[in-house]
Amino acid sequence: MAVWNLGSVNADRVYRLPHLPEPGETLAAQSHRTGLGGKGANMSVAVARAGSRVHHIGAVGPDGGWMRDRLADYGVGVDRIATVDEVSGHAIIAVDARGENQIILYPGANLAIEPAGTEIALADATAGDIAVCQNETNAQAAFLEAAGLRGLLRCYAAAPFSVDAVAAALPLTDLLVLNAVEAAQLELGMDRPLPELDVADIVVTLGAGGCRWIRTAGGTVREFAAPRVEVVDTTGAGDTFTGYLLAALDQGMEMAQAIGLAQKAGALMVTRLGTADVIPERVEVENYFA
Ligand code: ADP
Repeated sequence: MAVWNLGSVNADRVYRLPHLPEPGETLAAQSHRTGLGGKGANMSVAVARAGSRVHHIGAVGPDGGWMRDRLADYGVGVDRIATVDEVSGHAIIAVDARGENQIILYPGANLAIEPAGTEIALADATAGDIAVCQNETNAQAAFLEAAGLRGLLRCYAAAPFSVDAVAAALPLTDLLVLNAVEAAQLELGMDRPLPELDVADIVVTLGAGGCRWIRTAGGTVREFAAPRVEVVDTTGAGDTFTGYLLAALDQGMEMAQAIGLAQKAGALMVTRLGTADVIPERVEVENYFA
């Protein structure tokens, strides 16, 4: 089977500075590195590292060839990543000596994905495959609709949160994944508790607190504790969790078992500095918690 992921591809440009710049201040950075990021790309890499086939659906600009190549190196299917006439999505990330950050995100090419094109991108998908998207393109609803017509399991990671985007996607979603902040925003925005939403399964990730799985039919709620680890950088934990969760479901695991694997991958990820480039391999996850 396979996972079809509609999502962002971003260059993360990270600058280390003595302090975060004040308004009007010009400040020389002490170091710079560029990494592969974007929630979409992170999730595709996580699915691939967990051992499932994944096709990324997205767009980069003429400057984004290296990101496409790197995703391909990481085992992600890149045939459905278009090159468009717009700068690639990128994040300018300033980090001070204490680890505090400031981020400017420019979506660029990610917003050039045509909703109608997502249906074409799913032409080779088959019933039982998994479709996933986040909130970093303008094509989520069309993609989820096309995925539903083809009989795919539709997963939606409602991040970054936007009440309008979530309201449009929810009726087209089978499995909703949220972090604690997004879950609170969603309950407020929809004026309803999560178990009353029209989605079969909801997984709320709670950082070091693990996660909660809500099955809305019957209203069952199960809590899962997270493994204990030493935290270095929490960036990408949620994307790693979701990618591993979907790969595990794609490989036929039951939800509870899939959550167990996803939590281990998320926990190992927080021990590492970086995003897509450092998402752990399946064998590393298994060895670390053996
Ligand atoms: P997000 O990155 O989207 O905010 P979370 O912080 O909730 O998501 O993390 C996602 C998952 O990663 C958690 O459910 C857990 O399995 C794992 N995780 C995150 N932070 C930690 C931590 N400090 N210790 C152990 N596991 C963690």
